[in-house]
Amino acid sequence: MVGAMEQAGGDLVVLGGGPAGAVSAILGLRDGLRVTLVSPAPVPSRAGRLEGLSPRLHQWLAREGLLNGFDGITGPLPRRVDWAGISGSNREFVVDRAALDAHLCALAEARGARRVTGTGRIVGSGESAKRSVLLSDGRRVFPDWIIDARGRSAPRMASGAASLGRMPATVALCGWLEGDVSGVEAGIALCALPQGWLWRVALPDGRIWAQFLGDAADPEPAPARLVAAITAGTRCAPAPTLRLAGPLIAREAAPRLPAPVTDLRCLPVGDAFAAMDPLSGHGQFWAVSSALAAAAARRTLTADPASEDRCLRYLRERAAETAWRMARVGRDFLALETRFSGQPFWAARRALPDSLPAHESREGFAVAQALVIDNGLITEREVLKTPCSPAGIGWFGRLPAPEIYRLAQAGPEALRQRFGPQAEALLAAIESERTSPHQRVENPS
Ligand SMILES: Cc1cc2nc3c(=O)[nH]c(=O)nc-3n(C[C@H](O)[C@H](O)[C@H](O)COP(=O)(O)OP(=O)(O)OC[C@H]3O[C@@H](n4cnc5c(N)ncnc54)[C@H](O)[C@@H]3O)c2cc1C
Repeated sequence: MVGAMEQAGGDLVVLGGGPAGAVSAILGLRDGLRVTLVSPAPVPSRAGRLEGLSPRLHQWLAREGLLNGFDGITGPLPRRVDWAGISGSNREFVVDRAALDAHLCALAEARGARRVTGTGRIVGSGESAKRSVLLSDGRRVFPDWIIDARGRSAPRMASGAASLGRMPATVALCGWLEGDVSGVEAGIALCALPQGWLWRVALPDGRIWAQFLGDAADPEPAPARLVAAITAGTRCAPAPTLRLAGPLIAREAAPRLPAPVTDLRCLPVGDAFAAMDPLSGHGQFWAVSSALAAAAARRTLTADPASEDRCLRYLRERAAETAWRMARVGRDFLALETRFSGQPFWAARRALPDSLPAHESREGFAVAQALVIDNGLITEREVLKTPCSPAGIGWFGRLPAPEIYRLAQAGPEALRQRFGPQAEALLAAIESERTSPHQRVENPS
């Protein structure tokens, strides 16, 4: 039964309290909107899960002051890789996701968001019908703006479903481990295995988290599959006596390609829009960057009601392009591992979502017009297209990339006169853009 109709709920209703939803709520509050954040009761942190935190997202959250008082990040931890002969070791931060989500939601609430503990669903369809939100307590609200940040549980728009059906169903089996941890060094291990891949984190406090990704159709019982992966993974992450310590968490984990954006007043963000391959380690970054893009579209449309086409074009071209690119980067990284290419998990994934290159290729530099977010608004302006960034870059740091490039063309002295000691770093930044991503061995995780 639909509850009593009421004109409440504020200007922006956000469904979902993961990073995409919490950051959307915070961005709405910064823009002076009345924000309602709807999400189920938070998962207790001890039952939470670990994920890698990309350096770019880490920096962004810190710069925005969103990590003040938060202690759920560990690292950087050393990371060993056993994948396609890549034996290098680097470092990675990990984050307790339940704690991060709870922290960001509490921050939104402290800054003025109204929290509704429960769930909601979006009612109404068609471009002319105004969408509303039906809350699990029976109330129905009619906000000016809706953000759908329900993650992978958000229903997919029908028009996007056809392409999504092609991605093979993938499951992540995860859990905390126990056993003899005396010989286990703190750090992260990423191992390719015949049936999938294993990501294992040994925290400095002795706790160990394991995540195995495999085919969802495998009939073997889930706990046995995780234990087998942990045992097989000892090649790169020695600890033969570890076993599952608590409940096994199973998560749907196939990449999801974006559904087309049609209604700027009801936008999906994060995994509700497109879900990255967990191998990319890019999901939370995408969640936040798509929240930023949605907020920019909302601001732009408010400032200029005639900008609808521009905003839709930006979200379709730039935001959706990122999701496709990441799916292709994941495909290429899986294809690099040839030891198991005949095994069903690898054979089914090495050619999807399509056969197009992950990166547009281009030779040389060019200045061109493109849609970008500038000062929080979607604007058409000059960008610098390079072999490394064929879609174009707007800025080096805070300085406009096309202007820097033009000055560098006139000679390094022109750049030195204009930017003084910064000139050398700017020249190096331009130089680093000469290498196409095709020429790099890309490890997205
Ligand atoms: C196995 C696995 C490993 C991963 N590892 C990494 C990693 O190492 N690094 C990384 O950056 N990313 C990783 N990701 C991706 C990352 O988890 C997601 O991209 C990220 O959580 C997306 O954030 P989100 O806010 O869009 O959705 P979520 O984090 O899924 O949040 C959705 C929120 O919506 C709530 N919700 C659901 N239904 C409703 C409803 N009806 N009403 C209201 N609220 C609702 C949920 O309770 C939840 O709070 C991984 C993903 C998987 C599956």
